[in-house]
Amino acid sequence: MAALILDGNSIREQIYGELAGDIAALAAAGIRPGLAAVLVGDNPASKLYVNSKIAACGKLGLASFLLSPPASITTEELLRTITELNRRDDVDGILVQMPLPRQVDAKRILDAVDPAKDVDGFHPVNVGHLVAGRPSLVPCTPAGVMEILRRSHIPIEGANAVVMGRSDIVGKPMALLLLHANATVTICHSKTRDLKGTVGRADIVVAAMGRAAMVTPDYIRPGATVIDVGQNVITDPAEAARIFADFPAKLEAFRVKGSVLVGDVHPGVAGVAGALTPVPGGVGPLTIAMLMSNTVKAARLRRGQGSRIPATASAKP
Ligand code: NAP
Repeated sequence: MAALILDGNSIREQIYGELAGDIAALAAAGIRPGLAAVLVGDNPASKLYVNSKIAACGKLGLASFLLSPPASITTEELLRTITELNRRDDVDGILVQMPLPRQVDAKRILDAVDPAKDVDGFHPVNVGHLVAGRPSLVPCTPAGVMEILRRSHIPIEGANAVVMGRSDIVGKPMALLLLHANATVTICHSKTRDLKGTVGRADIVVAAMGRAAMVTPDYIRPGATVIDVGQNVITDPAEAARIFADFPAKLEAFRVKGSVLVGDVHPGVAGVAGALTPVPGGVGPLTIAMLMSNTVKAARLRRGQGSRIPATASAKP
């Protein structure tokens, strides 16, 4: 039986609908949440990401401020920018788009962001809150995965969950969120010995490795839920022909465009999994939705309307 396709776009719209109520309540109290995006230099991919985040703010009626210092900026200069944003009362969330130029010490920059405005959830204080299972500003992509699982009624409690990847922004926080939701969690990485055997025992698989179509149907236990976080742009015709050998429509789309976005999960997994997120249109839309949710949450907490933590951004079920 073909897997149920978990549509990230419709879940994002549900979350936006709920956020609209929160934003209206804040507006009634004279508060308009604001997100400041710091985009250093002119990396085209970073520009695209930041533009879509700014567009989401516009759609929801949040204020947004785009700061675009030149690629030659120094760590000290960027630290001054962050200090200024920390001070501003109209800025509730600060987003520093990665990667930063080589001469900038990215760790110092991220550590300088006020934890109360750290809507990416990367600051050590927020990482600590996540480890301790306290409600906090949670990294957006793993928080979005939890929204997909919960809103699709995928049982998490007691499930065997395998997270493929251990990065600070996806794999580790993902594993912690699943653990807090009472899954039994295994984290795999490039040194894992029996990757296929380990993934094959999972009820829930989250693939976040950045390896195009690596998770083939033989990795997956029939009926498992598979969440594909990977976003890999393929431009090699031979690679596209290999991945899409049984998917002529996809191959034709590649031929027309010359490139295609592929997840870490092979499209053939749709024939084995019980449920699967597509790429594009699965996890991606949720990442921006959770950034919006974190910005609203940060505004509420920081500006004294903090008694209610929105369910959309909570670290716990
Ligand atoms: P990353 O920092 O490069 O981490 C990749 C992780 O995968 C590492 O822990 C690595 O293991 C592991 N890994 C790599 N090759 C492996 C293999 N062959 N077998 C087992 N584990 C392997 O990547 P990331 O930032 O977490 O991103 C992962 C993917 O998610 C990328 O495709 C990225 O574009 C995508 N992403 C998507 C969104 C979204 O909104 N949809 C957001 C963020 C990221 P080691 O630690 O041992 O090296």
